[in-house]
Amino acid sequence: MSHYIGKILYLMEKQTMNNQTTFVYEVEGLRQSETTDKVNNPVRQSGTVYITVPYKRMNQEMQRISRMGGKIVSIKPLSEHSKANGKATQTGEKTKPMTQAKDKKKEIPVNTYRPKNPFVGKCLSSTELVREGGEGTVRHLLFDLSGSELKYLEGQSIGIIPPGTDDKGKPHKLRLYSIASTRHGDNLDDNTVSLCVRQLEYKHPETGEKVYGVCSSYLCNMNEGDDVSITGPVGKEMLLPDDEDATIIMIATGTGIAPFRAFLWRMFKEREQNPDYQFKGLAWLFFGCAYTPNILYKEELEELQRQFPENFRVTYAISREQKNKDGGKMYIQHRIQENAEELWQLIQKPNAHTYICGLKGMEGGIDEGMSAVTGQFNVDWSDYQKQLKKDHRWHVETY
Ligand SMILES: Cc1cc2nc3c(=O)[nH]c(=O)nc-3n(C[C@H](O)[C@H](O)[C@H](O)COP(=O)(O)OP(=O)(O)OC[C@H]3O[C@@H](n4cnc5c(N)ncnc54)[C@H](O)[C@@H]3O)c2cc1C
Repeated sequence: MSHYIGKILYLMEKQTMNNQTTFVYEVEGLRQSETTDKVNNPVRQSGTVYITVPYKRMNQEMQRISRMGGKIVSIKPLSEHSKANGKATQTGEKTKPMTQAKDKKKEIPVNTYRPKNPFVGKCLSSTELVREGGEGTVRHLLFDLSGSELKYLEGQSIGIIPPGTDDKGKPHKLRLYSIASTRHGDNLDDNTVSLCVRQLEYKHPETGEKVYGVCSSYLCNMNEGDDVSITGPVGKEMLLPDDEDATIIMIATGTGIAPFRAFLWRMFKEREQNPDYQFKGLAWLFFGCAYTPNILYKEELEELQRQFPENFRVTYAISREQKNKDGGKMYIQHRIQENAEELWQLIQKPNAHTYICGLKGMEGGIDEGMSAVTGQFNVDWSDYQKQLKKDHRWHVETY
């Protein structure tokens, strides 16, 4: 025990220098029992468990573990624990390096085409994704990139320059759209890119007049054969890790599903095209929208679930149809709260990545849900999340 007190003093000093606030104990000897079940930490095949401990509770937690007959075999700052990903996960398996974003050697194409010199592609097809009874318009658009140098990765975006000029007579600025296809494109010939675009429509706050967004209307009204000015690709925030065993948690509202369609198609639909990426981990998609007919790509998602029940889960939050436990509208944060304990177990795995994409402001509810659960384990969610961000395991793209 004195060894650990020494170690704690050393870590306390180190944490003051490095601003570390959370540590991970690896503990052996905590067999499953009524008491240890309450610890609620994943048990590794080797029989050890990881327990995340905030700095303030280190001493107390050590005494508690000792009372339960456990023995601490290592203590690491959370950041080091996460970096040790290549050595061991909670299931005791070896894993590959973490993210493409962290892997500096990986080629990430950026800005092959800039606004001054965009690539002019052609619209190959435009399909309505909102079914009867749903609200608004969302189109799946497929663009031909033949003759271009444009290569991209799942999770990146492209820019679209709408034709014409703004109210000051200047050419319209580009708008960004998340790419909804894999690098191989929907036709698997490495020659197309797809988008999932909602037509922006709102009531003018003063006149009450209906206003339609410039670029989204242009895209949603596009016909087969029309030209389209494309820039990019851009973005390194939402890249998918190379690790085939990773846990990928995806939280989307509306068109926020676009990058996740690309992820899921790469994981499950294009195995033949990617012999070096045979996903065997867990992908869990949370999708929020107003009505069932607004669930984008519903049939394909449910087909994937049927084919890969062990590796893919989808959870919907349909605000105007489902009720949360307090009788209010079911928003995505309520689904996060309902599943927060399991999510917390998953998020602690060193090769787990969480992605949030869609409406600006959706992060607030997700943080609320996670805080409530991590609070039960005396872990401060905002500290933990900061570390996840530093480790490139918490990815947000909202607009
Ligand atoms: C990284 C990134 C990825 C994106 N991915 C996608 C995607 O995959 N799919 C997608 O559909 N969109 C996506 N977007 C959003 C997209 O870039 C455009 O912002 C969107 O299509 C609207 O552009 P627009 O030209 O139609 O609207 P604009 O004509 O530019 O109008 C937008 C403006 O209208 C005003 N406005 C909007 N709503 C209201 C309101 N309710 N009340 C009052 N005023 C309002 C605001 O001033 C706003 O700036 C993404 C954005 C980013 C940054």
